[in-house]
Amino acid sequence: MVSVLWPRVHGMAGTQTAIEPSPTDEPPRGRRPALSPSRAADFKQCPLLYRFRAVDRIPEAPSRAQLRGTLVHSVLEKLFALPQAERVPEKAKELLEPAWAELSEERPEWTELFPDEDQEEISSWLDSAAKLVDSYFGLEDPRRLDPEACEVHVETELGSGVLLRGYIDRLDVAPTGEIRVVDYKTGAAPREIGEAKAMFQMKFYAVVLWRLRGVVPRQLKLMYLTDGQALAYTPDEPELRRFERTLEAIWQAILRAGRTGDFRPSPSKLCGWCDHQSRCPSFGGTPPEYPGWPEPDAGDESPLDRAD
Ligand code: SF4
Repeated sequence: MVSVLWPRVHGMAGTQTAIEPSPTDEPPRGRRPALSPSRAADFKQCPLLYRFRAVDRIPEAPSRAQLRGTLVHSVLEKLFALPQAERVPEKAKELLEPAWAELSEERPEWTELFPDEDQEEISSWLDSAAKLVDSYFGLEDPRRLDPEACEVHVETELGSGVLLRGYIDRLDVAPTGEIRVVDYKTGAAPREIGEAKAMFQMKFYAVVLWRLRGVVPRQLKLMYLTDGQALAYTPDEPELRRFERTLEAIWQAILRAGRTGDFRPSPSKLCGWCDHQSRCPSFGGTPPEYPGWPEPDAGDESPLDRAD
């Protein structure tokens, strides 16, 4: 049985993790296939989309909105690394430019979204990110919070052998031991389209934490920064038990499709957000030859997945 909780970055004042961090910031590579919330949601939405992303691993060009989400997540993570009294809007917005410089250095291909490094466009894009940061401060005061960790990599193996893996934006743990899972939503898509997917993702994390710590999280909190609203949900154990069975069924269906290569398209209104219409039979395209089930890992999430 595997049970892991790795905080990705830290040096956060007053922060502790209940399980010791790995000596490195990142989880080890070369891991066996796992189910992540993003890839499970892909398979549920459209098995062929799952194949393109997890099996063929066809790169997708991020949109500026996705990239802005990644940037805002990074800024909020850095904000919580500051002493509590310094977590104010001005300070958070000062973090935007250095965080963008850091991301562009790590992923130079992302800067291609701004042809000729047009400073005017970059600055208007940074302004739109600043609005999301302001919207965050309309929802809570981070000076009053002392999260256990931000951007936490979690991994656990269910009794059935299904490996679950994902990243949690923020984990708040009360002195009484009650756990709150927080996820920031920054996407441009209408909230109603993403809400079921977001709740699926939160229940996924709730199952992982319940299995890691033996405690059902007290609250799952979604913070929609685009429209400045929050949604809180309290799961219970019977519900998580049922959800665990759903995850096991999804993984078995993925493995069956993986053995045969039979990943069928499932068209819906979400096709409008799909990068793969040109190779999708539902849109007159032809998928590339099936490359076979990937090893070692079909479950990874990208930073862009985590910033939807
Ligand atoms: S276009 Fe629609 S049906 Fe085709 S792969 Fe994408 S999500 Fe699936």
